[in-house]
Amino acid sequence: MKHIRNFCIIAHIDHGKSTLADRLLEFTKTVGSRDMQAQLLDDMDLERERGITIKSHAIQMDYMYNGELYTLNLIDTPGHVDFSYEVSRSIAACEGALLLVDASQGTEAQTISNLYLALNNDLVIIPVLNKIDLPGAMPEEIKDEMVDLLGCDRNDIIPASGKEGIGVPEILAAIVERIPPPKGDPNGPLQALIFDSHFNSYRGIEVIFRVKNGRIRKGDKVKFMNTGKEYFADEIGTLRLTQEPKDVIECGDVGYLISGIKVAKEVKVGDTVTTIDNPASAAIQGFSEVKPMVFAGIYPVETSEFEDLRDAMEKLQLNDAALVWEPETSAALGFGFRCGFLGMLHMEIVQERLEREFNMTVITTVPSVRFEVLTTKGEAIQVSAPADMPEPNLIDFIEEPFIRAQIISKSEYVGGIMSLCMDKRSILRNQVYLTADRVELQFEMPLAEVVFDFFDKLKTISRGYASLDYEFMDNRESDMVKLDVMLNGDKVDALSAIVHRSKSYEWGKKLCEKLRELIPRQQFEIAIQAAIGQKIIARETLSALRKDVLAKCYGGDISRKRKLLDKQKKGKKRMRQVGNVEIPQEAFMAVLKIN
Ligand code: GDP
Ligand code: MG
Repeated sequence: MKHIRNFCIIAHIDHGKSTLADRLLEFTKTVGSRDMQAQLLDDMDLERERGITIKSHAIQMDYMYNGELYTLNLIDTPGHVDFSYEVSRSIAACEGALLLVDASQGTEAQTISNLYLALNNDLVIIPVLNKIDLPGAMPEEIKDEMVDLLGCDRNDIIPASGKEGIGVPEILAAIVERIPPPKGDPNGPLQALIFDSHFNSYRGIEVIFRVKNGRIRKGDKVKFMNTGKEYFADEIGTLRLTQEPKDVIECGDVGYLISGIKVAKEVKVGDTVTTIDNPASAAIQGFSEVKPMVFAGIYPVETSEFEDLRDAMEKLQLNDAALVWEPETSAALGFGFRCGFLGMLHMEIVQERLEREFNMTVITTVPSVRFEVLTTKGEAIQVSAPADMPEPNLIDFIEEPFIRAQIISKSEYVGGIMSLCMDKRSILRNQVYLTADRVELQFEMPLAEVVFDFFDKLKTISRGYASLDYEFMDNRESDMVKLDVMLNGDKVDALSAIVHRSKSYEWGKKLCEKLRELIPRQQFEIAIQAAIGQKIIARETLSALRKDVLAKCYGGDISRKRKLLDKQKKGKKRMRQVGNVEIPQEAFMAVLKIN
């Protein structure tokens, strides 16, 4: 154990975590230059394209230092707030963390939230000032900021550039010197913390763990303490560029386990592996079930593709344990699924994977949070789809989820951010100047407001400078109402939304205006109405299509005509016929684009 170091890299998105990880792997010759491709740890196509780490990964390196061989386990963590529970479990598997700060950006919301997680787990922090090669780097200012934040010695900060490979030997030396070796009882009962899992279509689920106490041997009969499930450790090993099977993984080390598990759901991040023969008396602390926070309906564009979509959802769920869904029927859209996601990014990822990996064209309905409704009969029910909201006269009260949001911004944007947050029904709880120019704001805020394009607005107001992080707090009583939309008198259930009463009139009006822009004109006039219960609160009229749209092209430019037809055809792909009205996908997301 003396020669093992377990560490992670924590940073705000884009501060250069994956790039630096690549350099560490290269320098320690874990990967030869022939196998090197950018951002090796981000192996899902989607991750590479978007430059974000969706799933965390681990990789082992050998490193010679002062004539002794060390094993370094690098645990990569996803930086996005949707995946903060996974980050917390990865951190719990380490003794130390590299804290990267972009020298041109300074500390951001996720720098701080991840730092707190690391400090709560007693990790040794190695501060790294990254991207010092950038012309816009402000090394001295940002160092001041880091000293303030960490209370560290200025000389402890390692200047680096993952891009140019600057600082890499210094970082590796600091990992060995500053981070303590793992503690634990090598001869005690096995306690291994699961911090990640992967799906492999041939071998089933691969479980990634860190041995906290004891050791695990190939062939051991093991038990996952929180799920209570039992398996044989058919194969165990360490994670290099490829998996290297081993007979035993010792106390303090990181490894993988394969035991023919077929379903991602059986493996819960944060669970503890022990042996049946000599079980640990307790599971490792900190386990919790990840809970979906955002819900939406997913429907096939072609109703005939429902079974294909079910197939795709089932396959997707095999390797995305956080995704939950159940069949749902909409009067407007037919058969589909009500899905639960960790957050908005997770929702986008699922939608994109359905399209890319499974070739499905889907319509996603308005996202919603989960409300707790107490009925007049004294029943408590959970409502995550507007269609399930009971009639107003049957509701005693409604509670909605609140989050604690932390926003870091340049001070010149504070005014704009304050008014945005006030408009989103938030309560300001704290305001701290990190430096003369940077402010940290803390709000209590309804999650429902974050779901509706809060992040985009925050970025616009702050010209991209503000960053956001949040965590769930509690449910609070709120005056919510269900807003329905009718097209020519028919209620379109998939366009309903649950909104706060104080905003409902404004919303209804803007939503109708937006729908009038988005729904293509058709051969007849369409009345677009918004209603709360029986009461119509807004109306717009979409006039009928004039018959001569194509006629304009006749005799004229043929390519223009083809373009127009092509455009219509493309539009078709994501249209749904509801009653006699064609509705495009954008209309189902219109509430997100209001204002
Ligand atoms: P992550 O989100 O923290 O994993 O960040 P990435 O490693 O994906 O890097 C984000 C962006 O910053 C990419 O465009 C990188 O090419 C760039 N980048 C990363 N490290 C450096 C660096 O040291 N210098 C410069 N100039 N750019 C960097
Ligand atoms: Mg990354």
